[in-house]
Amino acid sequence: MRTIKTADSLCVQCGLCCDGSLFADVELRGETEAIAVEAMGLEVEEEDGRELLIQPCRALRGMKCGLYAHRPECCRTFECRLLKQFNNGDVNLSSAIRVVKRLRALRDDGRHDEADALADERFLNQPA
Ligand code: SF4
Ligand code: SF4
Repeated sequence: MRTIKTADSLCVQCGLCCDGSLFADVELRGETEAIAVEAMGLEVEEEDGRELLIQPCRALRGMKCGLYAHRPECCRTFECRLLKQFNNGDVNLSSAIRVVKRLRALRDDGRHDEADALADERFLNQPA
């Protein structure tokens, strides 16, 4: 969950799990949530019985969620690896922001293989 601490610091300076950098879509809880999310103007697709919130998410305002109080369950519960390390005190804020900026720069430069490797290593690859 994005805690108050992280909402005030890391996540609001990141947004990579909302802007398409890490995911093409995220799975919603079901049809009821999909209808509610769609009613708020977000893009949803149904695929093989799964309801998917398409990214980049239309609710993203800069690096912040424009629907924060009403964001779906998947957004409330998701914690990337970097956020867990930050919350555990294993990575400080400035180091974490450097990683975020590095990934964004790689994407902006079209260096997709390096960006994917960094995303996998620092954001997605969960430690054993
Ligand atoms: S990618 Fe991680 S640090 Fe960035 S906004 Fe998402 S949860 Fe927060
Ligand atoms: S609803 Fe908010 S937290 Fe969820 S993907 Fe969209 S911008 Fe991100």
